[in-house]
Amino acid sequence: MPRPILATIHVDSMKQNLALAKAKTPNAKAWGVLKANGYGHGLERAMRAFAAADGLALIEFDNAVKLRELGWTKPILLLEGFFGPEDLVTMADHNLQAAVHCDEQLAWLEAAAPQLSARGIRFDLHLKMNTGMNRLGFTPEAFAAAHARLSAIACVASITLMTHFANADDIDHPLLPIGEQLRRFERGAAGLPGPRSLSNSAGVLLHADLKSDWVRPGIMLYGGTPGGGTADDFGLQPTMTLSSEIIGVQDIAAGEVVGYGSRFKADVPMRVGVVACGYADGYPRVAPAGTPVLVDGVRTRLVGRVSMDMLTVDLTELPQARLGSKVTLWGRGLPIDEVAEAADTIGYELMCALAPRVPVVEG
Ligand SMILES: *Cc1c(COP(=O)(O)O)cnc(C)c1O
Repeated sequence: MPRPILATIHVDSMKQNLALAKAKTPNAKAWGVLKANGYGHGLERAMRAFAAADGLALIEFDNAVKLRELGWTKPILLLEGFFGPEDLVTMADHNLQAAVHCDEQLAWLEAAAPQLSARGIRFDLHLKMNTGMNRLGFTPEAFAAAHARLSAIACVASITLMTHFANADDIDHPLLPIGEQLRRFERGAAGLPGPRSLSNSAGVLLHADLKSDWVRPGIMLYGGTPGGGTADDFGLQPTMTLSSEIIGVQDIAAGEVVGYGSRFKADVPMRVGVVACGYADGYPRVAPAGTPVLVDGVRTRLVGRVSMDMLTVDLTELPQARLGSKVTLWGRGLPIDEVAEAADTIGYELMCALAPRVPVVEG
């Protein structure tokens, strides 16, 4: 019998989450974001689930090429752009779009333009503005000049105006509210033609009225929230259920300790279940005692430190639980955002960290 850990990916739920994103922004076209192997769900699977998207967006060139090989014919967008001039050849060969966020990229395009134009190559590009996130992009002040420079390059077919929100999940953010980013964007983009590409999941879920010709939902397609609340609060469905089983039970006396570092001490006699899931499966080692876990569908709590291959749960109130009892670490019945919050992280990190050794099935 294989080790009982399993990740079940709910492809139909991914489809329905995309349908919700589209319904919330009926006037926009939607990129299905599937970077990081579809947020841990599998690239090919995410491509299938997002067949109704207007395009697919990701970071990794190798996976972009793989999408073409898998038969995706609609647009593909590289959200971090190209990392060197040789990437332009890959983009040309596979009809890939990309973000342009710095002067160096403009120079690479200018240098490659004669050759690419001679081949009849013309790129659809996404000029990125830094509206306060201070990661990638041209400042609002430099944006019009960058746009003019990009427009003048022979191998450029179209330019979409793009920015990314830092705090779309927190409308009243004291340092950088979305309204401030929008003001900066409007200032930098004033008078420039071309579609706008603004909203991530938080934008779609919380600011659906924003005028964004293209939206870029990621986490919501995987049933995660962009911050605050869980899938249910937004009408989303979980898409990844991580499950395992109890593989051992210990009855311990008051005063006994559990696991590495003996960080958990039983104040009363307890029944402790050992679950075949550890940090080498993607479960966060930092999850503290008290993190919710389902055993036979009943909520209980993590106790003791998560180890590489196992974690321990409190079965004291679950007398029927025994070897082989079903355990849900997150997914259907236990929102991933709730587990993430207990571990002081976000659902994104948990799904992306699903380890390659965990078998994956669809269901
Ligand atoms: C990852 C990413 C998204 C999707 O963000 P979510 O919060 O997962 O919806 C959108 N735009 C860009 C540029 C990204 O890198």
